[in-house]
Amino acid sequence: MILRMSSLFLRTLREDPADAEVPSHRLLVRAGYIRRAAPGIYTWLPLGLRVLRNVENIVRDEMNKIGAQELVFPALLPREPYEATGRWTEYGPNLFRLKDRKGADMLLGPTHEEMFTLVVKDLYSSYKDLPLSIYQIQNKYRDEARPRAGVLRGREFVMKDSYSFDIDQDGLQASYELHRKAYIAIFDRLGFDYVIVKAMSGAMGGSASEEFLAIAENGEDTFVRSPGGYAANVEAVVVSQAAPVDASGVPAAEVVDTPDTPTIDTLVDALNAKHPRTDGREWTAADTLKNVLVMLVNPDGSREPLAIGVPGDRAIDEKRLGAQVEPAEVVAFEEADFAKHPELAKGYIGPGVLGAENTSKIRYLLDPRIAEGSAWVTGADKTGFHVLNLVYGRDFTADGTIQAAEVRDGDEAPDGSGPLSSARGIEMGHIFQLGKKYAEALDLKVLDQNGKLVTVTMGSYGVGVTRAVAAIAEGNHDELGLIWPREIAPADIHLVATGKDSAPFEAAAKIAAELEARGLTVLYDDREKVTAGVKFKDAELLGVPTIAVVGKGLTDGVVEVKDRRSNTRVDVPLAEVVDHLVSAVRG
Ligand code: ATP
Ligand code: MG
Repeated sequence: MILRMSSLFLRTLREDPADAEVPSHRLLVRAGYIRRAAPGIYTWLPLGLRVLRNVENIVRDEMNKIGAQELVFPALLPREPYEATGRWTEYGPNLFRLKDRKGADMLLGPTHEEMFTLVVKDLYSSYKDLPLSIYQIQNKYRDEARPRAGVLRGREFVMKDSYSFDIDQDGLQASYELHRKAYIAIFDRLGFDYVIVKAMSGAMGGSASEEFLAIAENGEDTFVRSPGGYAANVEAVVVSQAAPVDASGVPAAEVVDTPDTPTIDTLVDALNAKHPRTDGREWTAADTLKNVLVMLVNPDGSREPLAIGVPGDRAIDEKRLGAQVEPAEVVAFEEADFAKHPELAKGYIGPGVLGAENTSKIRYLLDPRIAEGSAWVTGADKTGFHVLNLVYGRDFTADGTIQAAEVRDGDEAPDGSGPLSSARGIEMGHIFQLGKKYAEALDLKVLDQNGKLVTVTMGSYGVGVTRAVAAIAEGNHDELGLIWPREIAPADIHLVATGKDSAPFEAAAKIAAELEARGLTVLYDDREKVTAGVKFKDAELLGVPTIAVVGKGLTDGVVEVKDRRSNTRVDVPLAEVVDHLVSAVRG
């Protein structure tokens, strides 16, 4: 195939688009791959669509290899199945909702667990039909609060979603492993530097869950890993409950006067000045118990306050907290909320009102580092006062624990495999064992070997296809433009003809035709009256990995071949150039 730039529907831009913060977004727009239609909604132009299709085809190929079968559901869906699973409400404002002319509620599918479950229920009834894996590559719709970075986080985006159906947990485990292998093959072929991390299963429910993250500074996800091989999305790090300690030697709790100490720093200074410890060491933030109030907003709009107790040297990590309380959203506990709870002394809130008697009726959850029997300095529920030697289990209790405190570099990995270090990534894929949540909600049962009805167990597996295009661009560019991996590039060869007379154009046209005959796709810059400089700039921007220039060298009988990736160039005799280019592409 030959794509002639003289007629290709393409305009490259010299200027960066004003709204683009990350390189992939800037370059995809400048190179004429995508065009914004509305916030978080993009048009795929011819070259962009070729790249998108290449990514889709890699995903499709690897899914087919594990025996998964492709189908496609509508994006426009009825409310009822989503009502049955609770997701009509749970999705909250992220769901695009609409009504048909009769007033019936509809939605644009954010993900299709319900539809897959129902179609299997519709057609299958026996264990003999299982295992089954089915998938689609299709547009999804989510009214993201912060669409970002072009197609990296869109409101309309392409996802490959597959679902496995098995009779029991062993079957599910096998289907999960097959998908995991397919995902490794997919992300290897897409050319990613990626990690597989433990993940939360989020709004989907279910248990075992892993994410494939492309390592990228601009990523929205933070993950941690240890030298011993532990790797988890920071949201999924589970700190274990600290073992109980002996409190028999701890004196009785004592309220002390600590005026003007609403922050941990001011408190620690005041303690060291006025209430020094008797064991010779200084008070530190880690000796204090900080109680943080937040407000949870449920998908139905109802609000519920939550108090969280963490050691004073640790902050609450908003994302970790958010993942724990999903589908509720976390918002600030405001002055008006304090006004409704006069028992809360802002800056001096302690377990006195939150724990034990819990006069506030506010749910109180503790960081698991707080051991039973451990003694703390914490708020005395009276402005200007703190309490010393308040012992967990002796002097106060809580309603449970929560994994919401920040995870820090140097923290020991939960499995004891060494200190954690953090980095950022982009979530490219997510695989998880859903279990029976959807099958139960929608009553998907089959007859087992003994003729007994059993609920089917499911897995759910997603790849962000449009996001992958952006993430590949994010990891494969330089200051001049994009540099696509071969399998992703919109063409195999970018062939440029330069000069004022017709000879280079005639030679280039012949090369293009021969390459086409050998099965390659050629992006041929046959534009007349466009300077060589502009053509080279465009070639660098567009990012086809091999560029061949038929120009000045032609009088010496050579074509210049450039490799975008290694930034090297060689002169190849005209007679050999087709073979040279074919082997560059085929390796
Ligand atoms: P995120 O945490 O980034 O919002 P998610 O966990 O909600 O993603 P899943 O429901 O697991 O996403 O969807 C499967 C895959 O679809 C993700 O791994 C991601 O690659 C892709 N994806 C999800 N949301 C978007 C989006 N708004 N734009 C582009 N791709 C997306
Ligand atoms: Mg996910």
